[in-house]
Amino acid sequence: MNYLRLAVTDRCNLRCFYCMPEEGIKYLPKKELLTYEEMLRLCSNLAELGVSKIRLTGGEPFVRNDLMDFIRNLNEIPGINSINLTTNGVLTGKYIPDFSSVGIKTVNLSLDTFDKERFFKITRRNEFDKVVDTFYKLLDSGIDVKINAVVMEGQNIEDLNSLVALTKDHKVDVRFIEEMPFNGEGMHYPKLIWNHKKIIDHIKGAYPELQRIVDPPNSTSYGYQVPGYKGQIGVIAAFTRTFCGTCNRIRLTAQGQLKTCLYDDGVFDFRDFIRSGVSDVQIKDKFIELFGSRAKDGFEAEKRRSANSIVSESMSTIGG
Ligand code: SAM
Ligand code: SF4
Repeated sequence: MNYLRLAVTDRCNLRCFYCMPEEGIKYLPKKELLTYEEMLRLCSNLAELGVSKIRLTGGEPFVRNDLMDFIRNLNEIPGINSINLTTNGVLTGKYIPDFSSVGIKTVNLSLDTFDKERFFKITRRNEFDKVVDTFYKLLDSGIDVKINAVVMEGQNIEDLNSLVALTKDHKVDVRFIEEMPFNGEGMHYPKLIWNHKKIIDHIKGAYPELQRIVDPPNSTSYGYQVPGYKGQIGVIAAFTRTFCGTCNRIRLTAQGQLKTCLYDDGVFDFRDFIRSGVSDVQIKDKFIELFGSRAKDGFEAEKRRSANSIVSESMSTIGG
């Protein structure tokens, strides 16, 4: 396990309906979130154990103050050689010129539609123009950019093929994600309608020449390309969970819960552990112990959740 997804905050400036209820989630008091110093300490220990890639996520990472200073410090940890970011793009634009100097290698921009009205319906906020501006600034900056689009019945199906069309002239990787029940309320539909197979069949209706490409090791996405197009597409079977065998990820939530699987309900509270005054050796030993007892896949992790903890938390706490 060499890839950490670190949620730097649980707060967000959008209200995407697949992630949070309209009224938002109950945010934790600031003192219950990990401080930047605590995050750096946990990351240094993880780097010593072989973690080399970190993705910063949230909530919306740029809602937390001084994020760029934190990233600069993270980049100085020996062994961390890939820092990446997942963002909704609302506050991101002005920081892009400094991304490469603080060590940010790739950015995943969440954008489910290029239609302003549908964007408002999905995110419940009127921030479309800023997000699209961020997208084009990212492309101009030359940084590797991926678009994350959650596929939702009745919301953005008409956008799937236009998102694929973007890959014709832009070197962008558009990833379609199966909707998961992490919206603070449980499943929206009795069962998943747009699974990875249906998504690809739909796209093949407009692009019959679509080709499967070789995925990088540990990829959770099935890659495809329209021959001759500059960019690629990918489908993430996040609900169907077909990728567990190659998953190399661990997650730290904003309050310091370690998740060794997206579907577990947090296997250990590192915030209270480090606040109790433990040493770095004790922190590393604890990580090793927890990695050793990781569930074999997302279904087993879900079964191990405590009885009163159904899968209905908000993705803004988990970090995606
Ligand atoms: N706020 C940032 C953003 O939206 O990019 C980072 C955090 S967000 C929780 C991380 C990713 O999780 C986003 O790409 C979002 O689309 C995805 N996500 C959120 N809720 C989801 C759900 N219920 N099913 C699938 N993906 C989801
Ligand atoms: Fe915020 Fe990201 Fe969740 Fe949307 S998906 S509400 S932008 S945390």
